[in-house]
Amino acid sequence: MTKWSKALLAWFEVHRRPMPWRDDPTPYRVWVSEIMLQQTQVATVIPYFERFTEAFPSVGALAAANVQDVLKRWEGLGYYSRARNLLKAARFVVNDLGGHMPTSPKTWMALPGVGEYTAAAISSIVYGQAVPSVDGNVLRVFSRFWGLEDDVSLPATRDMMRRRLLPHIRTADPSAFNQAMMELGALVCRPRSPECVACPLAPRCVARRQGLTEQLPVKAQKAKVPHHTEAVAVITHKGKTLLCRRHEAGLLGGLWEFPGKRRDGREGLQRAVMHGVLEQTGLTVKVLLKLGCVTHTFSHFKVTIHAYACSVSGGAAEPLAHEEVRWVTPPELQSLPLSTAQRKIADL
Ligand code: SF4
Repeated sequence: MTKWSKALLAWFEVHRRPMPWRDDPTPYRVWVSEIMLQQTQVATVIPYFERFTEAFPSVGALAAANVQDVLKRWEGLGYYSRARNLLKAARFVVNDLGGHMPTSPKTWMALPGVGEYTAAAISSIVYGQAVPSVDGNVLRVFSRFWGLEDDVSLPATRDMMRRRLLPHIRTADPSAFNQAMMELGALVCRPRSPECVACPLAPRCVARRQGLTEQLPVKAQKAKVPHHTEAVAVITHKGKTLLCRRHEAGLLGGLWEFPGKRRDGREGLQRAVMHGVLEQTGLTVKVLLKLGCVTHTFSHFKVTIHAYACSVSGGAAEPLAHEEVRWVTPPELQSLPLSTAQRKIADL
């Protein structure tokens, strides 16, 4: 083992944060945790992980679950395709693998939602296999440590990093090595203002020696994300509110939402909401008052949603653009899975 690998592992031994999946690292629990940790911080994931594994304690329990229950446990965590893929993968494990979790990176990658990084993380943490898991944290740490100017947004850079790390993980404890790299990236070698004085890699770090910590890693500038405006209706009728369930495939698939539409050009918002409701449900509505607006950022766009309280003036609700429309009572509104933005509207 190299000097720096030893220093990294010694640092991890002292600084590793307690995480529920670390106490009991079964394949199922580590898999669920790794899926939840994609694009999401540890502190956010912990309560979701605890509630999810309490509701679905095994791959069998998850496979038997209803998609709406799974989405409800995921509500607020975002990137909902992760939840739908987790359910599909659990059913695949039960139906096609006899209930046995995969044991190699290649078989893990056969599951929906499991890419190379996740397969490597699970295989090393659960089975001690020597496969480096290279995510954004690891790319940042080692671009700085080795002074690499390759663009970290390119797949070729990720492959190169894997190859460079391979001999090091082979001579270390793979589980601790991968977790130590991720932990160092999260706690010390942060994107801004890395805490080099507390870093076990500092003595050999090129970026620190050459004053390049702010320049590395090199990352191509992302295109500016578009910003859309939507208008939605909170329609109440005889004490119930109209909700629509999105089709399973696509963004926010299977989640419930208020009817409405994206504004076309400079179209008036009240007009947009009335048109949207008519197009999506066949109802004609009267706008009563503005409830407020919420802004939410997705990975590829940003949206500001204006919400209006409306009453029914004609027609009967039909699912013209959704899988289902339903008049729901206040307790049902609480129990159905909604995205974060739609939940904020429900709470206005
Ligand atoms: S010394 Fe600083 S820049 Fe280098 S790896 Fe450690 S925290 Fe990152």
